[in-house]
Amino acid sequence: MKGEAPYYKASGKEIEVFEHSYKKKIPFLLKGPTGTGKSRFIEFMSYELDKKLITISCHEETSSTDLIGRFIIKGAETVWVDGPLTTSVKEGAIIYLDEIAEARPDVIVAIHSLTDHRRELFIDKLGQTIKAHEDFMLVASFNPGYQRGFKELKPSTRQRFVAMSFDYPEAKVEAEILVNETDIEHDIAKKLVNIAGKIRNLTELGLTETVSTRLLVDAAKLIHSGLPKRLSVQVAVVEPLSDDLEITLALKDLCDLMI
Ligand code: ADP
Repeated sequence: MKGEAPYYKASGKEIEVFEHSYKKKIPFLLKGPTGTGKSRFIEFMSYELDKKLITISCHEETSSTDLIGRFIIKGAETVWVDGPLTTSVKEGAIIYLDEIAEARPDVIVAIHSLTDHRRELFIDKLGQTIKAHEDFMLVASFNPGYQRGFKELKPSTRQRFVAMSFDYPEAKVEAEILVNETDIEHDIAKKLVNIAGKIRNLTELGLTETVSTRLLVDAAKLIHSGLPKRLSVQVAVVEPLSDDLEITLALKDLCDLMI
């Protein structure tokens, strides 16, 4: 049975675009920095479409074997175990490859035949090719590498997807998200959003990633739980952003003034 719908506040036409992409089963790429609601959006869409969602958080060790499956030894036998990609392809689930560019290159090779007209998966270890269930859809996210430390996604891979950019929501929407997610007072939500706006504009700090909606949600949760506001902002917003003492002190002073 369907549980409660995940809360997702749309910023643009993403719901409409996703619905149509799903109808035509075109792979979908969500671009954007961490904590901007990409995962929440996919949870929401799979709920709306009433499809099972299988999420894989890719990292540098994620290989095609992890996704497709492997033989394991069970007693005196070796048995084949489907990986999450194979399961999704067979059962007709939506698979979400979060941070796909982090995965090993063989993952990209493995999804190729699933992302074009063939819609099939080749399981090399079994010598089998399986046709995707008609409900199967591949979704991936990618953090564009405009700053240090992020991996790129090759144009030949990107062109296999419909893509949409996700960014921090506008102030009014972000405050609404905070209130909805944490039950915090609207006035405090607005102050948190103002702090985020200020820090996001401080490009001279050279932060690898700036304040995400996720960090604000965490700060709001701590405040709602009864932790003092300044301390909440310090531990949920300032400290996760940087380890540079000068920067964290400067940010803490700024935040103390604004909350
Ligand atoms: P990403 O996948 O982009 O890293 P998430 O989807 O995990 O980000 O979002 C982080 C948190 O921020 C969510 O758990 C949710 O609390 C909040 N959030 C961000 N954007 C939205 C949105 N548009 N609607 C609802 N919640 C959001």
